[in-house]
Amino acid sequence: MRVFKKDFTLQESIPSEGIDLAIEVMKTGRLHRYNVQPGEKGAAAELEEAFAAYMGSDYCLSLASCGSALYISLKSVGVKAGDKVLCNAYTLAPVPGAIENSGAEIVLVDILDDYTIDTADLDKKAAASGARFFLLSHMRGHIGNMDKIMEIVTKYNLILIEDCAHTMGATWNGKKSGTFGKVGCYSTQTYKHMNSGEGGLMITNDPDVMARAIIYSGSYMLYSGHSLRPADEYFEKVKKFTPNFSSRMDNLRASLLLPQLKKLDEQCKRWNALYDHSALLLDKVPGVSLPPRDSKEYYVGSSIQFNLPKASYTEIEEFLKKTMERGVQIKWFGNKEPVGFTSSYDSWQYFENLPELKNTNKVLATMCDMRLPLTFSVEDCDLIVAIIQDVVEEMKLS
Ligand SMILES: *Cc1c(COP(=O)(O)O)cnc(C)c1O
Repeated sequence: MRVFKKDFTLQESIPSEGIDLAIEVMKTGRLHRYNVQPGEKGAAAELEEAFAAYMGSDYCLSLASCGSALYISLKSVGVKAGDKVLCNAYTLAPVPGAIENSGAEIVLVDILDDYTIDTADLDKKAAASGARFFLLSHMRGHIGNMDKIMEIVTKYNLILIEDCAHTMGATWNGKKSGTFGKVGCYSTQTYKHMNSGEGGLMITNDPDVMARAIIYSGSYMLYSGHSLRPADEYFEKVKKFTPNFSSRMDNLRASLLLPQLKKLDEQCKRWNALYDHSALLLDKVPGVSLPPRDSKEYYVGSSIQFNLPKASYTEIEEFLKKTMERGVQIKWFGNKEPVGFTSSYDSWQYFENLPELKNTNKVLATMCDMRLPLTFSVEDCDLIVAIIQDVVEEMKLS
């Protein structure tokens, strides 16, 4: 019996340049982002400049996590208690969590068979709910048809926030993911595209939104420590009306990230080499189906998703058990109970009256989700797919 021995949660080490920078920061003891000497920027401010330059955005703010970036973005674009926020139903728990945290109500939108938002349902729900806000989560790096999505955003004059936790480095039709709406949010948590343990980044071109976000993030009245910031008048307008939510990034984490950003595009290509190789092989396995991806989408394949459309609930349970016994760790959003990092929308019961979304249920019921860390090689992917094929055949799932 073939068994895979590597760890699906093992990331690469931090580049030595990042370790050196972090040690420098630790030696000075100046870890807090506002604890800098006259004339010194500090790593957090440097990271914001570098990420804004990479994204081509006017402003960037570093934060404690992507979840806090989403929450602060919602508040900064003007979400108030009781407002409605449209959101695709297939996403990760911190996304509905950010909406709940802002006091808003979630309006869940169905997904298509290719895991992306159903634009017909979005159109319908935007009209019916009267929502002004839209939090679009590019879940697991699957970018929906941004042409159609932006048509609806324009039609209803929605304020769009993009959750790009898995699309850092990705583009649609050559335009960077996270630059379509008012705000783009990114994660630098260990399992995303740059690793500082925890961390988040938000970008915008709107000076009013950024001034509020900086104050919300916990700048106190030290916002002049942000080398990339709107003019003082923007802060003057909001500083006494914006609470401090204490969600800053520190110089230690920012120094781990600075050299990773330089390597980001190269890392994305390495992920795609693993992804494309695995996808090609998996697609040939009878019983396994992969959704087509639009040629306008440049994705970052840091994880892979596929469906076993013929499998029943108990067969998927059995499939996960058998692949796990052979060292292949697969996650499942169709589980009735939330497990590990994975939960489906019907377990976010802190929201009242959750709708039933037929296609989301159908798609998630048989969808398998697997990490592809950069510690894996193409040969590892060969073995992983061979094991999946063995189990699919053994269980007669084709
Ligand atoms: C990881 C993730 C987040 C949250 O990121 P954190 O930095 O862990 O808060 C949000 N959305 C998606 C789709 C994610 O995968």
